[in-house]
Amino acid sequence: MNKETFLYPAIHTKNANFNMWFAFPGPYSFAMSSLGFLWMFKSIDELEDVNVERIYSDTKATHLHRQNINLLGFSFSFDTDFLTIFSMLEHYRIPLKSSDRCDGDPLVFAGGPVVSANPQPYKDFFDFFIIGDGEDVNIEVVNLCRENKNKPKNTILKKLSEIEGVYVPLFGKKEVKKLTKRLSECIYTPILSGGAFFKNTFILEVSRGCANRCGFCLASYLNLPLRFMPYDELINVINLGLTHTNKIALLGAQISAHPHFKDICKYIYEKILGGANIEMSVSSLRVDAITPDVVKTLVAAGQKNSTLAIEAGSERLRRVINKNITEDQIFNAVRIAKDNGLKGLKFYGMIGLPTETEEDLKEIINLAAKLKSEFKGFDISFGFSSFVPKPHTPFQWCGRENTKSLEAKACFVKRELHKLGISATVSSIKWDYWQAVLSRGDETFTDFLIDVYQNGGKIGAFKSAAKARNINTDYYAYADLMLDDNLPWDFIDIQPGKEFLIKEHNRLLNL
Ligand code: SF4
Repeated sequence: MNKETFLYPAIHTKNANFNMWFAFPGPYSFAMSSLGFLWMFKSIDELEDVNVERIYSDTKATHLHRQNINLLGFSFSFDTDFLTIFSMLEHYRIPLKSSDRCDGDPLVFAGGPVVSANPQPYKDFFDFFIIGDGEDVNIEVVNLCRENKNKPKNTILKKLSEIEGVYVPLFGKKEVKKLTKRLSECIYTPILSGGAFFKNTFILEVSRGCANRCGFCLASYLNLPLRFMPYDELINVINLGLTHTNKIALLGAQISAHPHFKDICKYIYEKILGGANIEMSVSSLRVDAITPDVVKTLVAAGQKNSTLAIEAGSERLRRVINKNITEDQIFNAVRIAKDNGLKGLKFYGMIGLPTETEEDLKEIINLAAKLKSEFKGFDISFGFSSFVPKPHTPFQWCGRENTKSLEAKACFVKRELHKLGISATVSSIKWDYWQAVLSRGDETFTDFLIDVYQNGGKIGAFKSAAKARNINTDYYAYADLMLDDNLPWDFIDIQPGKEFLIKEHNRLLNL
């Protein structure tokens, strides 16, 4: 049994007559390091009249009985999470398709980035979806289901469909507005666990979203506008965490843009100088955030290496993707990192970005060679993924390069970097292909996804299921879509909206 420390006054014995499972499609260790999952659970757990239990892919036994479950919510963060979700549904004898479920079955819903961006491939499996920031609507949804629990399923779903940010496929594709929360309270790890992947680590969200708007980046476009937690609130929360653990992690796609980021680092640094044993990590840094004070704090807090996402090797391609950092800025950042005690940096890049040429790829190698010779003894490594078009981004229309040619590019960068003595990894090009298919998928996918699951969920299963179901997966991954095409996810209203995306698409690709 993993020891858990609750950082909120959990009500351990409730006498509620409404039962809910809140499910994570992965093992306990990952769930207990997932801030979004844990925070949602906490907010439901605080409701006195709802019994809620966390379940995971490796849950052996549950406290609540399956036949008493009224509501089952899934967190859906990665495209292939559907495989684990199906296996959990089967394990608890819940039919996969919502139309096959009867009154004795719970209502099943999902929330998270994948289904917020494009729920259509999964529309037949869930009774409803929460689109966007779910913290507040989650409670409204649970309360509505509780108050109406004895009513017919369709009556409950009708009422749910009237809540902003809730999509009920049964009632068709009417426009659904993505929820965007005003951040006034800081979200943090509400339950610390020795069994978490990041053991006993207190994670707190410093900012949400990223204003950089890189052309391919769903994390940015799904979470605009960039929002910051108030500084005083952050300091209070940091102190709460430090009374329970010495490991803290600051989370946010663009935390270093927080107007008080330096003050937060200073606050931690001074505590360390005063004798506190604090281990601190940050999710990622931008080049312009690598300042001597920030690096000193990270080093004092035990961080040895950090990551820097440069995405592309050439300044031209970085401009096209809207990642406007110059080579000088990169060199300056590495210099500061090295001079202030970091041992190494891992650079993240992407291959197969729209308009990429051979020259752009060579530029990655040139940049790596220059860094290696300028910063001797500093550990430089590279990690690459391949471009996957994502809904609601300016590059949603751009087809992906074919697998063969991307694999050749992957071999090229790995081989050339290894020649320089630089370690380099590349994500699986074949899996990235299937990610692209799922990302731009639509409502015709239902039986295809069931077949993939039933055939074992590996790459071969995707291929054979596509063939059997006559799904032209190359279209979803490779096709350059037309700007005036109706896209499966157009009914999800995410600001700044399609008109802006078209303008940005044209602007970036014509630079
Ligand atoms: S800087 Fe990173 S998080 Fe921000 S838009 Fe670009 S890729 Fe996304």
